[in-house]
Amino acid sequence: MDFLAPSTWTDALAAKAEHPDAVAVAGGTDVMVELNFDHRRPPALLDLTRVPELREWGTDDGRVRLGAGVTYARIIDELGARLPGLAMAARTVGSPQIRNRGTVGGNLGAASPAGDSHPPLLAAEAEVEVASVRGVRRIPVAEFYTGVKRTALASDELIAAVLIAPASGPQQFCKIGTRNAMVIAVSAFGLALHPQRRAVGTGIGSAAPTPRRAGAAADFLAGELAAAGLWESRGALPEGLAVEFGRKVRDAAAPIDDVRGSAAYRLHSLSVMARRAATWAWDDYRKAA
Ligand SMILES: Cc1cc2nc3c(=O)[nH]c(=O)nc-3n(C[C@H](O)[C@H](O)[C@H](O)COP(=O)(O)OP(=O)(O)OC[C@H]3O[C@@H](n4cnc5c(N)ncnc54)[C@H](O)[C@@H]3O)c2cc1C
Repeated sequence: MDFLAPSTWTDALAAKAEHPDAVAVAGGTDVMVELNFDHRRPPALLDLTRVPELREWGTDDGRVRLGAGVTYARIIDELGARLPGLAMAARTVGSPQIRNRGTVGGNLGAASPAGDSHPPLLAAEAEVEVASVRGVRRIPVAEFYTGVKRTALASDELIAAVLIAPASGPQQFCKIGTRNAMVIAVSAFGLALHPQRRAVGTGIGSAAPTPRRAGAAADFLAGELAAAGLWESRGALPEGLAVEFGRKVRDAAAPIDDVRGSAAYRLHSLSVMARRAATWAWDDYRKAA
């Protein structure tokens, strides 16, 4: 197996163009497990850990531009105020060791329906910046996932960064697992309130072939809040509204039975998480007045 170790982004893109079968390695917390268990034996590995640009985050036209190689630990330490939903999700990933190595770029590259960064990225309407020797393109995250563990990446492309608007309102992330730590989600849900736009963002994890939005549920909640003048009055969220929102989120899911949980449990837990996330986020919105 060839081991390619570029030290610049230009060289990394050139290497990927020359070796489209090469498997990128960021933190290695997914790739190395697959190699150890002989689930994959690629002709080449493309180590991205020496590429400094990937480890940086900054701002781009008001959005956070999160390099693909920024770890969960740094998101928690450095970006909790700007990206609270993603930071909440990052806190639930694996263990300290995994959070010190694992990256959002790797989560996107693996594109597991259960990956924890996906619900908050969907709720925040993030964009994935991908690059190749042919150029750069930005893909809305909802279009990045094309199937179970499949992405919109072409064989010569790498993920450069994720662009995420800083939170303009409260965000929540909920995850159900069989225990509290070191657990892959049985189901997960991300919510972002966008009060300036009177909009609601949602993301469902581990309950469909890909991470996905609950668009109708989000439009329903935003519309009902607007119709009752609640965005302006910051009045209490009617219990029935949160429950109905939970039902509509559940209706957006398409889970399967597997070793981690049954489809029925995933649907039920999603409706509960969505109700709670909406209630908590709305309480935060009221307190921020
Ligand atoms: C013990 C353990 C616990 C875990 N717990 C969780 C958890 O709670 N929640 C969760 O979501 N995940 C969990 N994971 C999975 C894993 O940690 C995450 O998916 C993590 O985000 C992967 O990031 P990485 O940098 O290690 O990716 P890598 O393993 O390096 O790569 C993952 C995939 O992304 C591709 N890739 C990486 N970088 C790029 C790039 N720049 N461009 C294109 N493709 C790229 C790789 O080729 C590979 O296909 C766990 C893993 C382990 C071993």
